[in-house]
Amino acid sequence: MDSARTLHGTPVVPGVGYGRVVRPAPAPDLPAAQEVPEAERPAEAARFSAAAEAVAARLSARSAASSGVSAEVLQATAGLARDRGLLATVAERIAAGADAVHATAAAVDQFAGMFRSMGGLMAERVTDLHDIRDRVVAELTGQPEPGVPVPDEPSVLVADDLAPADTAGLDPALVVGIATRLGGPTSHTAIIARQLGIPCVVAVPGVDELPVGVLVLVDGATGAVEVEPDAAAAGKAVRQAREERAVTDRWTGPGRTADGTRVEVLANVQDGAGARAAAGGAAEGAGLFRTELCFLGAEAEPTVEQQAAIYAEVLAAFPGRKVVVRTLDAGSDKPLAFAGMPDEANPALGVRGLRIALDDPGILERQLDAIALAAERTGATPWVMAPMVATVSEARFFADRARARGLVPGVMVEVPAAALLAERFLAVVDFVSIGTNDLSQYTMAADRLSPGLAVLTDPWQPAVLALVATTARAGLAAGKPVGVCGEAAADPLLACVLVGLGVTSLSAAAAAVPAVGSALGTVSLDACRRAAEAALAAEDPAAGRTAARAVLDGS
Ligand code: PEP
Ligand code: MG
Repeated sequence: MDSARTLHGTPVVPGVGYGRVVRPAPAPDLPAAQEVPEAERPAEAARFSAAAEAVAARLSARSAASSGVSAEVLQATAGLARDRGLLATVAERIAAGADAVHATAAAVDQFAGMFRSMGGLMAERVTDLHDIRDRVVAELTGQPEPGVPVPDEPSVLVADDLAPADTAGLDPALVVGIATRLGGPTSHTAIIARQLGIPCVVAVPGVDELPVGVLVLVDGATGAVEVEPDAAAAGKAVRQAREERAVTDRWTGPGRTADGTRVEVLANVQDGAGARAAAGGAAEGAGLFRTELCFLGAEAEPTVEQQAAIYAEVLAAFPGRKVVVRTLDAGSDKPLAFAGMPDEANPALGVRGLRIALDDPGILERQLDAIALAAERTGATPWVMAPMVATVSEARFFADRARARGLVPGVMVEVPAAALLAERFLAVVDFVSIGTNDLSQYTMAADRLSPGLAVLTDPWQPAVLALVATTARAGLAAGKPVGVCGEAAADPLLACVLVGLGVTSLSAAAAAVPAVGSALGTVSLDACRRAAEAALAAEDPAAGRTAARAVLDGS
C-alpha cells in the first residue's frame, strides 16, 4: 500500500482521530450440520438456551455499564437474544433433529426474511439478528466472540459496517476514530458515533483494504481518511481538534451568529429522560419530539391519559421554553402495531405519517387531546407538527384540529411537494420544520437506510439545499419560522449553510448541540449566506463541503 494515501467518504461526526487500524473479529465458522439423536435433543436444547442466555447477559451487562442511546441499543439487542418467538423457533428445530448451531442459523434466517419484508426500521434490525446469531454460534462452538476487540491503545475502528451492539459498547478513549465502507449519515454507526463524540466517516470506498495495524488519520469534518500520514502533522491535527473541541464543549447558548443574528439551537428528543438530559445541556428547547418512538413496542394504542403523562414529562423538562411535538410518524421505517397500516409493496411511499389520520382521524385526535392535556398540566404552549405532509389541504386538516385545542400548528417539510409550495403551506400553518432525512430520500429517490446510497441521501446534495432555500424564502416572506430538524442540523458546517439559506432554528441530537451552536457563533450571517451560495452552486456534496468551508474559514 502507498504511504500517505488518502481515501474519501461521507463525514458524519466532526473531529480528528489518529491511531492504528483495528477491525471487528470475523463471524465464527459454522461447523458441518449433524442430526441430533432423539434422546440427546433435550440436552441440545438446554445447551442452546444456556448459550443464548450467556450472550444476552453479556450484552445486558454492557448496557448497564453504558448510558443513553448506547445503553438502549445494547439492551434492545440483548432483548432479541431473549425473544420468545426466536427461542421457540430454535427449540422447534432442535426438537426436529437439527443441532443447536444450525437451528440458530436457520431460525435467524427465517426471522431476517420476515423483518426484511416489513421494511424500514424492522429491516435495519436484520443486522442485530445476524449479530445475535454470530455471538450464539461463537458461544456454542467455543470460538472468540465476534465484534469489536477492546484495543490496548487509542485506535481507529475500520469495518464494512458496524452492528449496533458493536458501536454501542465503544469506549471513546480507546476508539478515537471510525471509518466504514458502508453506512449513511443516518445509519446506526453514525448515530452512536455522534452520541459518543467519536470522529466518524462512513461510505469510504477502499477502506476495507486497509490492513490491521496501519496508522490512519480520520477527519470527521472533511471525510478524509489519510493512510500512514506524517506523524508530526497528524499529532498537530489531533491537538488542534482537541483544542477546538474544548472550546465547543464550553458553549452554552443561546444560539446566534458572530454578528448577533438569533438562531435557536434545539435538541431532538424521544422521551422524558432524554428531554431532561438535553435540557441540562446547552439546548434551548426541543425542536423535534419524536412521539412514535415512545410506542414502538406497544401492542395497543396508549390511552389519552398514558400519552399525556409521557408528553407532560417532556414539556416539564423545558419550562417556559420551546417544545415542538411531532404527532405519530408511524409507518415505513417506524411501524406501530396499533396504527393499522395496510400491507404495501413500497411503505416509504405508502400510508405513513399524517396519511394514516386522513381516513381515520381518531388516533390523531386522541393524540392531540393528550398533548393539550399535557400542556394544561404543565402550563406549556407546545407547538405541534405533522409528519409526511404533501398537500395544503392535509396541512389545513391538521392545523384545524390543532388550533381547536389551543395548540400552535406546523407541518414538517419532508416531501419535495411541500418545499416547492411552502408559501401556500405557510398560509395555513404557523411554522414549518424541514426533515432533511426524508426530504433527501424523496428528493433523490434513494432509500435513506440503504448503506450503498449514502452519497445520494447526503443532505449536502445541491437539489436538497435548493428545496431548503425555497422553503426558507417562503418563511421569510410570510414572517414565519422555518426550522431544520433532520440530521443535517447536527453537522456544524452544514448548520451554517442552512442559516445562510434562511433557516431560523436548528434541532439536532443533544450531543451535537454544542458543536453546532459554537460553529455558528464564529461566523457572520453574511459569511453563512456566501457559504450557502457556494454549496448550492457545487456539483456534488463533497464539492459543496469544500466550497462552504473555504468561504467560512476565510471569513
Ligand atoms: C426527517 O425526516 O428528517 C426527520 C427529522 O424525521 P425522521 O428522521 O424521524 O423521519
Ligand atoms: Mg422524517
